[in-house]
Amino acid sequence: MRHRTCLTLLGVLTAATALAQTEPQKSPPLATVTPPPNVQTAGKIPAEKSPPPPTSPVAQTQGEITTPAPEDKNPPPPFDTANMDTSVKPSDDFFLYANGGWIKRTPIPPEYSRWGSFNQLIEKNNDALHDVAERAAGETTATNPDAKKVGDYYASGMDEAKVEVAHARPLADELKRIDGVKDRNDVLKEIAHLHTLGVTSLFGFTSGQDDKNSTMVIAQAYQGGLGMPDRDYYTKTDDASKKLRDQYVQHVTKMLTLLGEEPKAAGEHAKKILALETSLAQASRTKVELRDPQKNYNKMKASALQALTPDFKWDTYFKETNLPNSGELNVGQPDFFKGANKVFTSTPIDDWKEYFRWHLVHATAGELSADFVNENFSFYETTLRGTKQIKPRWKRVVASTDSSIGEALGKLYVADYFPPESKARMLDLVNNLRSALADRIKTLEWMDDATKEAALKKLAAFTVKIGYPDKWRDYSGLQIDRGPFVLNAIRASIFDVHRDLNKIGKPVDRLEWGMTPPTVNAYYNPKLNEIVFPAGILQPPFFNPKADDAINYGGIGAVIGHEMTHGFDDQGRQFDEVGNLRDWWTPESAAKFKERSGAVVKQYSEYEPLPGLHVNGELTQGENIADIGGVKIAYAALQKALAGKPQEKIDGFTPQQRFFLGFAQIWRSVQRDEDLKLMVNTNPHSPARYRVNGPLSDLVEFQKAFNLPDSCPMVRPADKKVNIW
Ligand SMILES: [Zn+2]
Repeated sequence: MRHRTCLTLLGVLTAATALAQTEPQKSPPLATVTPPPNVQTAGKIPAEKSPPPPTSPVAQTQGEITTPAPEDKNPPPPFDTANMDTSVKPSDDFFLYANGGWIKRTPIPPEYSRWGSFNQLIEKNNDALHDVAERAAGETTATNPDAKKVGDYYASGMDEAKVEVAHARPLADELKRIDGVKDRNDVLKEIAHLHTLGVTSLFGFTSGQDDKNSTMVIAQAYQGGLGMPDRDYYTKTDDASKKLRDQYVQHVTKMLTLLGEEPKAAGEHAKKILALETSLAQASRTKVELRDPQKNYNKMKASALQALTPDFKWDTYFKETNLPNSGELNVGQPDFFKGANKVFTSTPIDDWKEYFRWHLVHATAGELSADFVNENFSFYETTLRGTKQIKPRWKRVVASTDSSIGEALGKLYVADYFPPESKARMLDLVNNLRSALADRIKTLEWMDDATKEAALKKLAAFTVKIGYPDKWRDYSGLQIDRGPFVLNAIRASIFDVHRDLNKIGKPVDRLEWGMTPPTVNAYYNPKLNEIVFPAGILQPPFFNPKADDAINYGGIGAVIGHEMTHGFDDQGRQFDEVGNLRDWWTPESAAKFKERSGAVVKQYSEYEPLPGLHVNGELTQGENIADIGGVKIAYAALQKALAGKPQEKIDGFTPQQRFFLGFAQIWRSVQRDEDLKLMVNTNPHSPARYRVNGPLSDLVEFQKAFNLPDSCPMVRPADKKVNIW
């Protein structure tokens, strides 16, 4: 199951306040949800699960592409000039100049919809996790409780014969409950029950930091209930969207058939499920609307929520979810709840039962027998992303383990695979970047002194988390055994939901992490005003202890700068130094920021990754602001680090040039068209090529380093250059 949500990298999560990540990974094990637009944490979002589901970004090891050789006897150079395409001029397309050689000779592995630096490192980490999990599973007498849980969980997933024989039988109790639904009150109770399992149903409900009182956790109710990646998939009227909806109906039909329904009846039910979800989609806000934290903050008493949904009895809901006193709660999208009330009352009871069956089997498909797994893969991976081949079982089971008990697995992983000296070196880099950003804020031409002072205060207050949590999650109350795989996943999800809801009304725990340690990603969380770098990303090509400064500042330095800049992007700037949603800007400086961020929206809206498909400049503006600021700040920090040192060329390139080559290298990737389309429609990150060419064409430092003319594709005209941070 994918009960966790994650804020995927660099942004999968789009929601107003979700974590701003670095990489648009398809959330690996962590789910990708319609995040509660106001929910702070990257944690998980219990009651809502991932539309683009099982997508562990794990790849196959084949040929030159992957070769994650556990011990590299001949590690590649920090920047390999063989990856360049010098037939392309750096002034025309720097992304291709730096990466074109690699792109030309690299096929997309059949298990992947996108393949690049991030995925290669994920594969390397997968091998490490594989080793950790296999060892844990082999020690049947383990005394370390984390190793025991990891070993049992992994072993239950790897017992393919048992999983096949069981088919959907482990779900029998849940399916029986659904069969027993007789009236609307039962429907309400089943919605609540499925939420306690972490299964999508009607709307989302979880706990999260109060945006305007950052010390406290409150309940959060938000839009949800869909099976496709976004509301737009239900509402768009073009031919491709209509075709996709037909394919979705076919998929739902097949899943219901696998549960034992007659194909004809299942087909009728699937159409009704689409109709129900379409009504919810029509009441839902767009991803761009979800980016506005003020609009998605609507704190109210439970009685006010009750008034929005007169027919949905919240007392019953709270009783079923064991929340007798929810206190004041944030209702992210009040209009959605008005719409949901109508759907709740107008949908026939039998249609609800089909909807529940569908979402139950959808949530658990990855841990069921091969017929479920393959059908799920066929729609969510092949149809939606173009992926050709499913990953081997062990990779899927490792991803499930990471999703369910990620800090137990992560604890074992860092003990064996994370060198403690990496932490000290990273802290150094972060401090250098922080001081470069402070220098920059002090000299900003467009910001007044009062706002500068507040911005510097916020920057100084950043919390920095590196590697893994200081305090690990306690799984002692969770039962994991070598019985049915899917029941382990369900119990882990229940455990997570319970843990989440249990936080309501309590102080915020600022030590929590929103990503597991092996994750190849990073994030900024505006509600905790923190930047977080899991152990997984602190390796080449991002962070390379053997590389020169230029490569490290262009790699992990730009990632650090990116996360820091998120504190000052269109969303992050609305939160103060302790994470409260509070306006600390003078009206003059705010107006100037908006003028400049408007130019970012315009710049990126021009980009057209596929014919007729433009980047959504509004949706991606926060990430683009962070990309532009991140590389600029990292470059300034490198200049400081190089001061007074000999600046030798390597492979014929100056340190300044190597910085930009190293930066371009981290975004090296090849991607299937389907995946690109899904990304542009739903992901707040721009496609890789524009994450390189966009920021660099704004940067005079880049123009200077490569001695480019004023007029060329990689140098925007002076009056169109964007310069914020
Ligand atoms: Zn980001």
